[in-house]
Amino acid sequence: MHHFAYRDGALFAEDVDLRRIAAEVGTPVYVYSSATIERHYRLFESAMRGIDPAAPAPHVFYAVKANGNLGVLKTLAALGAGADTVSEGEVRKALAAGFAPEKIVFSGVGKSESELAFAVGAGIFQINIESESELELLSKVAARLGKRQEAVFRVNPDIGAGGHAKITTGSAANKFGVSFEEASRLYARAANMPGVRMMGLAVHIGSQIRETEAFEAAYAKMVGLVGSLRAEGHRVDRLDLGGGLGIPYEIPKDFDHGPSLIEDYAAMVGRVTKGLDVELGFEPGRLIVGNAGILLTQVLHLNSRPTKQFLVVDAAMNDLLRPAMYEAYHEIWPVAEPAADMRKLAYDVVGPICESGDTFTTDRLLPELKQHDLIAFMTAGAYGASMSSTYNQRPLVAEVLVKGTEFAVTRPRQSYEDLIGTDRAPPWLA
Ligand code: PLP
Repeated sequence: MHHFAYRDGALFAEDVDLRRIAAEVGTPVYVYSSATIERHYRLFESAMRGIDPAAPAPHVFYAVKANGNLGVLKTLAALGAGADTVSEGEVRKALAAGFAPEKIVFSGVGKSESELAFAVGAGIFQINIESESELELLSKVAARLGKRQEAVFRVNPDIGAGGHAKITTGSAANKFGVSFEEASRLYARAANMPGVRMMGLAVHIGSQIRETEAFEAAYAKMVGLVGSLRAEGHRVDRLDLGGGLGIPYEIPKDFDHGPSLIEDYAAMVGRVTKGLDVELGFEPGRLIVGNAGILLTQVLHLNSRPTKQFLVVDAAMNDLLRPAMYEAYHEIWPVAEPAADMRKLAYDVVGPICESGDTFTTDRLLPELKQHDLIAFMTAGAYGASMSSTYNQRPLVAEVLVKGTEFAVTRPRQSYEDLIGTDRAPPWLA
């Protein structure tokens, strides 16, 4: 469910007419709904809390990589969320948005010495260690700072899943985590290191996963590992189950809102971890922000060929990479509400970038559109703006957060001065 709907013939974000945002901020522009973000966070958090109401509330660390916009982060921080980060930049951004250090976890396969030093120095809650080499480096860095950093091993369970090969992370062929077989030896090794205190395990098997089976198989393996590590005398207090829950990008006409994935997932986690006596953690990203955002764009040109009708819009693959990168599907809604009997045409919707890959969709049946019409790529709140670039020297687009009848630009469109002015000519060409 989301808060983008037609009202009086035009598409609104909550109580704001998208035509107003386009007129005041320009296009392309990402528009986020606070109400949708809040709703999804609350639903997820309460379902996870409901797993074992008698236990301390599980940690919900929002995965900043899905959408690191300051307005989005502040909205989530105000709800009491934690943050899952994967770079020093994300740790810094989370701190700037108001997440307390003790609510921040730091994952990722390639943390550098300076990134680790920054995170340890900031006093973050937990570092998810992904290799033996990282374990050694973290211990050295933390000991040098006179600290013992709380950490978990991210384990690769050799069970991968996800909406696309590029977002599957849990199979043995993927670069993520320490191997399942090595976990016990590494845990024992870490016990003798001065700069780390091992608190438990983490796992994250992929993204856009819409059934619970793969999660269940991976989590069952992790529960087994918790048991064997404890039997070897280790302390295992935390189990971070990662993110990865998928969302509907394509909503079928007969969508019946049957048992929700969140409820199924919570029930499954409850079953698998029953009696384990661990602090649970979760790292949802897409589920929280995916359909809380749209990319609003304008039709620049219609290029009709005998066999093709190209709709050239002002957004491109540098603004929304998912279709080019993962063949991802986004629904396209015209901002002016189409009449039910309006003629439909098959369009290839493309951006201005000089690559054929800059194609959002091919042969998509859409109500007839004309130059300057506004359209919205739906479900663009996750891995949209956060994966954007300035390819083709296109400035980063603006981002807007809506709350009720209000909206605010939470990232202004990048200026050409900022785009060009940060480059430096070498002295011999100055
Ligand atoms: N945690 C980790 C370690 C990740 O790598 C990711 C994304 O790939 C996430 C959480 C968030 O995943 P999602 O947005 O699918 O919930």
